[in-house]
This record gives sequence, structure tokens and C-alpha cells, in this order.
Amino acid sequence: MADGTEGVGETVKGELTGGCNCGAVRYRIAESFRLPPYACHCTDCQTRTGSAFSEHMLVSENDIAIEGPLATGTMQQPSGAISTIHGCAECLARIYATNDQRGGLASVRCGTLDESVQIKPVAHFWVRSKQAWICLPDGATQMETQPGTGEEWLRILSQASSK
Ligand SMILES: [Zn+2]
Ligand SMILES: [Zn+2]
Repeated sequence: MADGTEGVGETVKGELTGGCNCGAVRYRIAESFRLPPYACHCTDCQTRTGSAFSEHMLVSENDIAIEGPLATGTMQQPSGAISTIHGCAECLARIYATNDQRGGLASVRCGTLDESVQIKPVAHFWVRSKQAWICLPDGATQMETQPGTGEEWLRILSQASSK
């Protein structure tokens, strides 16, 4: 296959490791439930990351084993959900987020993975606020906003990863 998805499967399978910038926090993610990575171009993510977009991967919260001091911050999303960001207490690198409407799941910030260079988002959400210079790959799954329900998240990400 030469559609740019080579290697994605291996990258997001099996145990994953990662950590913060200063080395105080390291983590391992076992594999039980996991969805493929996606990019979010919403303006909240732009603000939160101080960057153009964020890369997330939804995993079972129980699969994450953290070593090191975490600090948390909370924010209310437009949907009303309360999102809690978990990051390194020393260098403030964000590691993952949880959400009170999505119990048991954690959204890992893919840039903190040791093999982040290999990550390729299978879908792009909130492309209506995407920064103009970013060109999405041909055929990439994209939505003007984001999936509305848990089932829709599951369906769109699963379909996108098998394209
Ligand atoms: Zn740190
Ligand atoms: Zn976002």
C-alpha cells in the first residue's frame, strides 16, 4: 500500500511508552481498548496546546500506568462536559485528558509518545477552524466539527482506520 497509512497499525498496537519533557513523568499504556489517533483543529485545542492542532488517541484509562508527579487542570467544554487535563507537575507537559461524559476513557496527547514521529491521525475534526496553511492528506477523513455521540466516534474512527 502506498496510501500513507503504512506503519500506523504497528504504532498503535501493543504496549506504548511515553513521557513529559523533563523526564519526571513516564508512562506505559497497555492494550485493551484503544481507538486510532485523530487530530483536532478546534480553537480550544489550539489554545490549550499553544499550537495549530492536537493529536489524541482514546484509550482505556485503566490501561495507563503513570510514574511521576501529575498536576491537573479542568475546563468546561462547549458541550458542557468537564475535561480534566493531566500533565507533569514539574514541566507542565500535558499527558492525557479525561472527561466526565466519557467515563473510563482517557485521551492521550500523542506528541508525548516515545514514537510520536510515527503517529498518523486517521481523521481530522473541526476542520472549519483548521489553520489555512495545513494541508490534509488526500482522502483523509475529515469533519467540519466532531462526532456527536460515542457511537459516532467509534464508527468514524474505526472506518477511517480501515480505509
Ligand atoms: Zn516533566
Ligand atoms: Zn479540539
